[in-house]
Amino acid sequence: MKISRSLFSLILLLFPALAAAQSPAPAKSLKAVKFGKLWDARGKLWTNAIVLIEDDKIKSVTTNPSDIPPHAQIIDLSRYTGIPGLIDVHTHMTIYTDETPGQPMLPQLTKNPPAVEVFLARKGALRTLEAGVTTVRDLGADQYEDIAMRDLINHGEIIGPRMFVCGYGLTVTSTPYKPGLNPPAGGIADGVPEVLRAVRQQVAAGADVIKLYASTGTDDDVTQFQTYSYDEIKAAVDAAHQFGKKIAIHSYGPDGARDAVRAGTDSLEHATDMDDATIQEMARRGTFYVPTIDHNRYYLDNWQKIGYADGFQEKTKAFIERNLETARKAHKAGVKFAMGSDAIYTMFGENTRELAWFVKAGMTPEQALRTATTNAAELLGHATDLGAVAPGYFADLVAVEGDPLSNIDIAIKNVRWVMKSGQVVVDKTSASPAR
Ligand SMILES: [Zn+2]
Repeated sequence: MKISRSLFSLILLLFPALAAAQSPAPAKSLKAVKFGKLWDARGKLWTNAIVLIEDDKIKSVTTNPSDIPPHAQIIDLSRYTGIPGLIDVHTHMTIYTDETPGQPMLPQLTKNPPAVEVFLARKGALRTLEAGVTTVRDLGADQYEDIAMRDLINHGEIIGPRMFVCGYGLTVTSTPYKPGLNPPAGGIADGVPEVLRAVRQQVAAGADVIKLYASTGTDDDVTQFQTYSYDEIKAAVDAAHQFGKKIAIHSYGPDGARDAVRAGTDSLEHATDMDDATIQEMARRGTFYVPTIDHNRYYLDNWQKIGYADGFQEKTKAFIERNLETARKAHKAGVKFAMGSDAIYTMFGENTRELAWFVKAGMTPEQALRTATTNAAELLGHATDLGAVAPGYFADLVAVEGDPLSNIDIAIKNVRWVMKSGQVVVDKTSASPAR
């Protein structure tokens, strides 16, 4: 029987295995990245390290050049220090705005349809990568824009960090109305049954993590009133865990923080003025603290462009000081920290400035870097494939100029090159003077 050419193409289309049999399997992509120094986040500082990469994963780390496979592409970053791709556990990637002159950011958010927001957000995604952040946990979006963006990044349609997203954050009805800002209506839930429904809806939509707002306080508002009761918080925590999801709980104040910790939250966001008993309980349970100190600094620097009314500054400045003081106490008490920027509007690219606050709070630069690598990976439930440079981990690497272990600013300001999943996504090495 004679098979016509078009029929044969149709058969290939229906039975892709036949087509595969016709051509050899694609060769694995092999890369060898050389660093002068390498901090692997697992306690070792390498000299003249070579990271061998196969496709999107790290195959091994060596110092022996003869381990480099013959056909590997060699990327020589010998004049830089390598660190793992960093993780920011608190972003709002799709609440991105640009700096069009005369266009305050808050009104932009209500004007832009969801598709426009996601399209614009690719710029923030790139700036996030440029800061050395290759993974984010995104904690609150409107209309499931975060899920769309996560999937577009995973499909290679947007270049950006790997995203773990929450869909709508749960809020009580009394969340303060923000003139000009769309309230996240999809996340409103009052009472235990509604909380259960809202958690299940986020899971059904494809959320990776659950977010709940247990207190007031956001933007230029630094009030700290608890919104959800202990029973409501506990219901959300248990429902999230039942689906194998972790939960992040927002509380600006000590009361929501106390109940969130007692209810078993995986991470506590912002919490300022926490009492000693709550801090002790966090240390005992291993609850992650994500203080997000720097986002209020960003609000103070940019309030006019955002569109806040004048007069909020003194309260916000005082909040920052108390936020830092709470972080200092928590660090001293042995609480685990994860780095979260709360990046929003035009803050993308400033994600790692939080690390400088952690050093101010008493951490060594290495301890600070752990909050954005191994600690953050543990909080994501990805301790075995994210946040370190070791065999089997995703090939997420950052080259910085200088020694980040003696000066945290090197990690914050001197990022020169970034690889995510084995692909080079940022390369500013040619911009540096040649040696
Ligand atoms: Zn936030």
